Amino acid sequence: MYNSTIGRWFHNCVMRNRHERRIRAGLTLHHSWVDKEIFDFNTVKVKIVPLGRTNYSYFMQDTATGDLAVIDPGDHDYLVSIANNYFHCPISIVLLTHKHWDHSAGIHQLRKTYPNIITYASSKEQIPDITNRVGENDSIHFGNTLIRVIETPVHTKGSLCFFIQPDAAPGILFTGDTFFIGGMGAYFEGDIKDACRSVSKINALPDETYMFPGHEYAETTLKYAQFLQPTNRSLLKKVTWVVKRRARYMMTIPSTLREEKSYNPFLRIYDTTFYPVLGVSHYLGAISKLQEWRMRRRNEYKNIELKIYPESN
Ligand SMILES: [Zn+2]
Repeated sequence: MYNSTIGRWFHNCVMRNRHERRIRAGLTLHHSWVDKEIFDFNTVKVKIVPLGRTNYSYFMQDTATGDLAVIDPGDHDYLVSIANNYFHCPISIVLLTHKHWDHSAGIHQLRKTYPNIITYASSKEQIPDITNRVGENDSIHFGNTLIRVIETPVHTKGSLCFFIQPDAAPGILFTGDTFFIGGMGAYFEGDIKDACRSVSKINALPDETYMFPGHEYAETTLKYAQFLQPTNRSLLKKVTWVVKRRARYMMTIPSTLREEKSYNPFLRIYDTTFYPVLGVSHYLGAISKLQEWRMRRRNEYKNIELKIYPESN
């Protein structure tokens, strides 16, 4: 579905419907309930762009030079509208975390709109309209900012995360569909060893890093996390926050790696205190049990009710 022509057609229909609804409601394309959500990281700024039902694209702007990047352009019209009306400048580069349509559908048109645009994706994935192919530890120069490429193959074999360490501000990590708040994406093209390598790379980044994932999935992923860790206080605190946010249709991103390392079960596979829950004694056992249980025991956790825990505040 995420690779096929029919998947692309379906994704484009969802985008078109969204635009038409906005126009009928008297909104221009760049109006959004996250218009004020600019995250200021001193030398760069990040703006979150919700697309479709659950997708997130992102703008990142270099503060000194004004250069504008888009991460995962799942659409064209909406993103160009924001670039024109909000940032008042062209998009100069695209960073693609992986090949799926809901993250990449806008690239072809963006190259037509901005003939000089540079588009980056993994050298291990066959994606049309990519000008620059990158791999592990490559550095992308963007204005005065350096973007580090981290290969995290498991969702797809060319999945990438992008890490930025601004001056005098916390780090920024775009994780696509590899890591979500409280969970990991599906392992479509990787095995548990790939997953472990990906986890260890993310765990090595500073705790203060802000994580920006590719989807609004917290209400789903946190059910599995809570099923495994019903008394984890930092998890219950996060659940409480998420429930309050979603009651007002607000997004639950970003998260920090400090938080994620404390309750995201996939980021806890090197934490031996977590092993008794899974009945394992090694990180390979932990990741394979997590992967097995999230499929096989779905009926046991899919109906868990996320709620507000007053004592967790
Ligand atoms: Zn995907």
